[in-house]
Amino acid sequence: MGLIVQKYGGTSVGSVERMQVVAQRIARTARAGNDVVVVVSAMGHTTDHLLAMAHQLTTQPSPRELDMLLTTGEQVSISLMVMALQAIGCKAISMTGAQVGMITEPNHTRARILRIQTGRISELLKGNHIVVVAGFQGFCNAPYWEITTLGRGGSDTSAVALAAALRAERCEIYTDVPGVLTTDPRLVSDARLLDEITSEEMLELASLGAQVLHPRAVEIARNYAVPLVVRSSWLEDPGTSVISPPLPVPRPIDNIETDRPVDAVYVDNNQARLALLRVPDRPGVAAILFRYFAEAGIDVDLIIQAIQGIREEQPTNDIAFTVQRSDLARAIEVARAAAEALGSCEVVVDPCPTKISIRGAGIIGRPGVAAQMFTALARAQVNIQMISTSETCLSCVIAGVHAETAAKALCQSFGLRTPVFEEPFIIHPAETMAVRGVALDRNQAQMAILGVPDQPGIAARIFDCLAVEGIPVDMIVQSQRGEATNDIGFTVHRDLVPAAEKALKLLCDAVGCSGILIRDTVAKLSLVGIGIAGTPGIAARMFSTLADLGTNIEMISTSTIKVSCIIDQSAAEDAICKVHAAFKLGTGEKVAVEGSKS
Ligand code: ASP
Ligand code: MG
Repeated sequence: MGLIVQKYGGTSVGSVERMQVVAQRIARTARAGNDVVVVVSAMGHTTDHLLAMAHQLTTQPSPRELDMLLTTGEQVSISLMVMALQAIGCKAISMTGAQVGMITEPNHTRARILRIQTGRISELLKGNHIVVVAGFQGFCNAPYWEITTLGRGGSDTSAVALAAALRAERCEIYTDVPGVLTTDPRLVSDARLLDEITSEEMLELASLGAQVLHPRAVEIARNYAVPLVVRSSWLEDPGTSVISPPLPVPRPIDNIETDRPVDAVYVDNNQARLALLRVPDRPGVAAILFRYFAEAGIDVDLIIQAIQGIREEQPTNDIAFTVQRSDLARAIEVARAAAEALGSCEVVVDPCPTKISIRGAGIIGRPGVAAQMFTALARAQVNIQMISTSETCLSCVIAGVHAETAAKALCQSFGLRTPVFEEPFIIHPAETMAVRGVALDRNQAQMAILGVPDQPGIAARIFDCLAVEGIPVDMIVQSQRGEATNDIGFTVHRDLVPAAEKALKLLCDAVGCSGILIRDTVAKLSLVGIGIAGTPGIAARMFSTLADLGTNIEMISTSTIKVSCIIDQSAAEDAICKVHAAFKLGTGEKVAVEGSKS
């Protein structure tokens, strides 16, 4: 029998009675012959209560004192949990983050884990102890010994990092929901449990606000191929397995969370880019356009719709997208027909662009990575035509002639030897639905910088200026009219709008942009699924569903496994229900997509 790491969340250890129930489960796992490491969160809403007290005393509590305060929550849980275990005859011992050797960066309230000194824990396991570890906390020793925390929800991350460092057989996350659902059950009544989800999909969903797993925990699980399970503390049901591709070579356990955020640079020379310029800004336009493509069975890869012409009397959008180059001749015909139907908008074609992407689970939550990519391209004098972002992948479409220069510049910047020309290796879950989850993020605000000069280096400066302030940017959308200026749209967390505005104001004046647009009454609706890539008609179905509701789409950005739309927040709840139903996610039935080749 092997080593199992079990993590119990705040609700699961919310009272003495619940701890007793949990202790029984832990005892059973140990008595079945397993070594067991248990990670616990603070009881119930302890962390929230502690934070509320801090904020009663001061509007800006010192990060160091916050860490001192919040780590007490988990210390209560570990000692009580061990008492519960001892009371039923188990040999158990509690450990704080420091005792267990959880070394982090010296960054209070949001430290990343560097390494775990597993010597003591291994010894205790050898001595047949169940080791109960305080989640969410660690310590740093530069320049002094200090207690740190990993950020809200960080106990998941502690658990998966321990599983990686101890090379555990698996990590089980116990929570008050039965596992990972197709969508938010508070918004959609028939949200359904998934048996399996890939870590790639989970990373997207976790950062879209599906709160069952801390995104950094998924990142570690993927990077170290840790088998991960999310299940209910109160049921025997298997829950949801989060599956990761096997590791080609084992990763060093050092710098668990701070090792290279980018695994590889991918170059795709087989795409073609089309754009419809000046399409009317009204509900249903994207739906009509992509229905033409779905009916022709043409798979569309990246789609972006930027806000353009916001200052014009009749606002219009540009919609740009890429298809496989082998489909180009037909795609041009289809695009022309659609353009005709939409009121003769202009179709522009680039038959041989290059899509260059950086991939890695560590891109998430590191605002500097996008800026680093754009800077590397700018230094190499490469102009960016299209940008598409997701949690694990940033792609830029550039002119084909620049492919080699761009690949070299990115490899150098991210410390990689050579670019990769094959498709990335992707594992698929057993269930065959292309779309596996729908998420709504109501914390984003839409921003755009208007009239940005079309020169290499401007995107780099914009996102660098946000990265310096530590402001993570979510969707980034830039379209190209081939005019002297572009508008660059993106989303940031609503709370960060004032900081972002302040940071960008100076830059805008300096480079001569014409203004900043802010809309904070929007919501982001996303579809996630490994099978979205290669299935024609998925985006069309989403856009049609929104069109039927009369909802205007403000911005579109897709990656190979995600389609996201910015819509008005008043339409958001209705939209998530209808989109969830449109893909039959509540039933688990495979949806037949029009024009689908399969
Ligand atoms: N107790 C911490 C929090 O509430 C860490 C966790 O539960 O994961 O954020
Ligand atoms: Mg949690």
